[in-house]
Amino acid sequence: MVEPIIGKLGATIIGPKNPSREAENKDVVCPPQTDEGILANMRWSFADSHMRISDGGWARETTIRELPSSPSIAGVNMRLKAGAVREMHWHREAEWAYMIKGKARLSVVDQNGKKFQGDVGEGDLWYFPPGIPHAIQGIGDDGCEFLLVFDDANFSEDSTFLLTDWLAHTPKEVLAKNFGVPESAFKNIPKEELYIFQMKEPVPLENCTTAKDAFTHRMHAQTPLKMKMGTVRITDSTNFPISKTIAAGLVEIEPGGMRELHWHTNSDEWQYYISGQARMTVFASEGTARTYNFQAGDVGSVPFPMAHYIENTGTETLRFLEIFKSDRFADISLAQWLSLTPHELVRAHLNIDESLLQNIPKEKTPVV
Ligand code: MN
Ligand code: MN
Repeated sequence: MVEPIIGKLGATIIGPKNPSREAENKDVVCPPQTDEGILANMRWSFADSHMRISDGGWARETTIRELPSSPSIAGVNMRLKAGAVREMHWHREAEWAYMIKGKARLSVVDQNGKKFQGDVGEGDLWYFPPGIPHAIQGIGDDGCEFLLVFDDANFSEDSTFLLTDWLAHTPKEVLAKNFGVPESAFKNIPKEELYIFQMKEPVPLENCTTAKDAFTHRMHAQTPLKMKMGTVRITDSTNFPISKTIAAGLVEIEPGGMRELHWHTNSDEWQYYISGQARMTVFASEGTARTYNFQAGDVGSVPFPMAHYIENTGTETLRFLEIFKSDRFADISLAQWLSLTPHELVRAHLNIDESLLQNIPKEKTPVV
């Protein structure tokens, strides 16, 4: 049982308790003594998000409404059963996505009249620039579940431009004129949006016309940076050229390991926890710092350019995505900063031994 007790300080909670939530939030109930001040909440769980249930799937979102400390990015967690379709639509924001489980078929047409169809599986990404129309369909044994990331924290799944919604709100004589057919051709179109709906599974892709694979990227197939306690894969516009507004790192950390102390030079950070348990302390300057706990299905945020680390506090591999509204992944490592600054200068700040500074690698080691 977690209690707010540090040595002789604090006391047990004798009023109402929420044991499962307090156990999840160990470092919130009983913060490390190095924490100071009250920072904004930087954690949200998709388990607390509104669930929109539809025919063949569901969607839930974490936007600035759920997590006000994240001003740059919104995320959507979506499930599509085999055959189920997230209907043909477009939106103002760019869409970046990570396939969590299962498979999907993407269908896209761009502004030059190029069509694209592609299948994506676990660990694959896609990116649709603003305004590009697309549809997503679950395929395979049990369809799929994925994370969508939008480069605007005010995004909402409920305000995308849907094919059925548009046609339901256009005079039928205008539709008839546009397509050169009688009005009666549209007598059965839906009166309101479908959003997510069940249809039968599509034919295998070899029977479809495919264009160049420009909208997708196989993140899991990237050779990871390997470190003693984990791995990192970085995907941004340098290896996934279409992704001009979202950069990401997929980090895996073994129990006891840690994403090193660092900060970023270009953007707020938005995190999605895929497996395991973690804690993160965010240093916000002015003597303030706060520690937060995370587990699978949680979202974390780090406002630009606050310093942080992420430690695996569980017994299984910690796996999470670090996501930035930027064309490049960029961070500053505390260890590298200290090792490359004149040591005399660093020693005068910290009163530490030269031998410690000598042992810090000059190369970044993102996971230690
Ligand atoms: Mn979309
Ligand atoms: Mn970071």
